[in-house]
Amino acid sequence: MTTLPGRALLLICLSLLAWPAGAGWLREQQDIMGTRITVEVFHADDDVARRGVDAVMAEMRRLDAAMSPFREDSELSRVNREAAAGPVPISRELFDLLQRSRQVSDLTDGAFDITFASAGFLYDYRRHVHPDARTLKQAAARIDYHNLALDPATHSVRFSLPGVKIDLGGIAKGHAVDRSIALLRAMGIHDALVTAGGDSRVIGRRWGRPWRIGVRDPRRPDALVAVIPLEDVAVSTSGDYERFFEEDGVRYHHIIDPTSGDSARGLRSVTIIGPDATTTDALSTSVFVLGRERGLALVDRLTGIDAILVDGQGRLHYSSGLEQLQPH
Ligand code: ADP
Ligand code: MG
Repeated sequence: MTTLPGRALLLICLSLLAWPAGAGWLREQQDIMGTRITVEVFHADDDVARRGVDAVMAEMRRLDAAMSPFREDSELSRVNREAAAGPVPISRELFDLLQRSRQVSDLTDGAFDITFASAGFLYDYRRHVHPDARTLKQAAARIDYHNLALDPATHSVRFSLPGVKIDLGGIAKGHAVDRSIALLRAMGIHDALVTAGGDSRVIGRRWGRPWRIGVRDPRRPDALVAVIPLEDVAVSTSGDYERFFEEDGVRYHHIIDPTSGDSARGLRSVTIIGPDATTTDALSTSVFVLGRERGLALVDRLTGIDAILVDGQGRLHYSSGLEQLQPH
């Protein structure tokens, strides 16, 4: 069993042994996709390590240019502008990610729904803006992933009514991490960590030992609620403390319950451990929306997926596969 969390998760590295000083080890951070990217690679050849890090950063920039909702010229923004008027042909990569999103929507009874953006765009967490009840109700009526028609024959997407919008913020970073790991492997790098905000994936080892990742305490920035050794897994964390503001005692944050268009309240954070970051990213957002009972029931049904939840009172809950981690 293994673990590791993302943006909110503090990466802690406790072992610094067993590798010739500095040789072929490289760690770099850059701010891309509106988040912190961390890449750490090991390779006996320094040049290969260098090229690996550069390839990952370039890949992150490429995906940001294609999928950012904040860039008018992104492929995603073009879909949002044009897909209500008729089918919009899109890249194979975007099409595949939309299909994957739909599968997760089906799996989670619609808790994961990229059309959350039909109402989600009415919030501005930095400026403390949220819609009034009436505006929200109208916009939330357009949230439904079935309003998205995908045509595999033409790789095109179409919205079935005006006002529908999509946003891949709950899955795109995981996809970017998986793409990065694939690039590194193709370059012959077998020991690496790639983190994009709250989404991480590790392969191989760090200084000859398993990677270790800490799950951040949602209410104490420097504290950890768990530290887990891991090998060849992905870990994603979704929390209510990343982008939020409070008004009249109500916390408005960036994970939206598709049934209401309002922030999902009940849990403080969800960490998912699984085989790849696309899956763990989408599931961390989904389980956050589903809440403790339905969320853990879903995780326990899925093979190869585990979860650590922090509830509204700060208590920890684990999926059945992680029971050995629970304090006795
Ligand atoms: P982050 O790493 O950005 O904190 P999370 O994995 O926690 O991301 O997902 C939050 C993001 O997912 C939001 O910023 C938004 O873009 C998107 N999102 C919010 N609610 C949903 C939802 N119900 N279904 C799918 N995506 C969502
Ligand atoms: Mg997520």
